[in-house]
Amino acid sequence: MPVLDLEIGGEEFITMAGPCSVETEFQLLATANHVRRGGARILRGGAFKPRSSPYAFQGLGLEGLKMLARAREESGLAIVTEVMSEEDVPMVAEYADILQIGTRNMENYSLLEAAARSRRPVLLKRGMASTIAEFLSSAQLILDNGNPNVILCERGIRTFETAMRNTFDVAAIALLKQISHLPVIADPSHAAGYRDLVPALARIAVAAGADGMLVEVHPNPDKAWSDGEQSMDFAGFDEMMDGIEPYLSLRGQNALRCKAGARPMEAVG
Ligand code: PEP
Ligand code: MN
Repeated sequence: MPVLDLEIGGEEFITMAGPCSVETEFQLLATANHVRRGGARILRGGAFKPRSSPYAFQGLGLEGLKMLARAREESGLAIVTEVMSEEDVPMVAEYADILQIGTRNMENYSLLEAAARSRRPVLLKRGMASTIAEFLSSAQLILDNGNPNVILCERGIRTFETAMRNTFDVAAIALLKQISHLPVIADPSHAAGYRDLVPALARIAVAAGADGMLVEVHPNPDKAWSDGEQSMDFAGFDEMMDGIEPYLSLRGQNALRCKAGARPMEAVG
């Protein structure tokens, strides 16, 4: 899938990194420049934030989108940012290279249709309580509305386990790679909920065959306006990127053997 000069789902493992929320120009530009040097190809940052609490920071909206556009200009990185409502799709699509649909909106079908019609690639997050079949149905709706560029994102699901923010369904990554032609990426940040756990989940995502990852990075995570606990600081990001290297090389060597044994999509109902 082409995004600017990148190919998602191709040979290269694509890292999308940046803050949970766009906060200030300094925060965003410093992060963009750092993650670019560390190997990220796409900058993430939310301008519209779906928060579980109505009292939490809801995002800067249009002002945040403008900061993202500045960051793209300065860093050369493509931009992925969330769109939460159907009416906002044209505005967000004007600034974003990839539209992110969040876990809480995976089944918001009018939003999916509007995102499809924007012609921008869509990064579709798995609903936190959605089956793989439901996830693929939502992806199919985007395809059926004339947009073939969908990226599937496993970001952890709700289970009885409370030790992590979510349960990272790593088998879903491996299965989706077998049964779907779409690129599959992992979001180890929202799966873990705690920054110390993120690098391990990133390595596991690579081993499971993910085409890339979406990861939260902040210059000062303890002061972040959202999701600070799971955001990596700059040194942590560099260490995580070094940590996935050997797993990426291993994968290169084994790539041919992994091609065998594709299962039909009907296998998940
Ligand atoms: C995010 O990427 O910051 C986000 C809100 O993700 P999710 O929809 O997976 O919770
Ligand atoms: Mn977040």
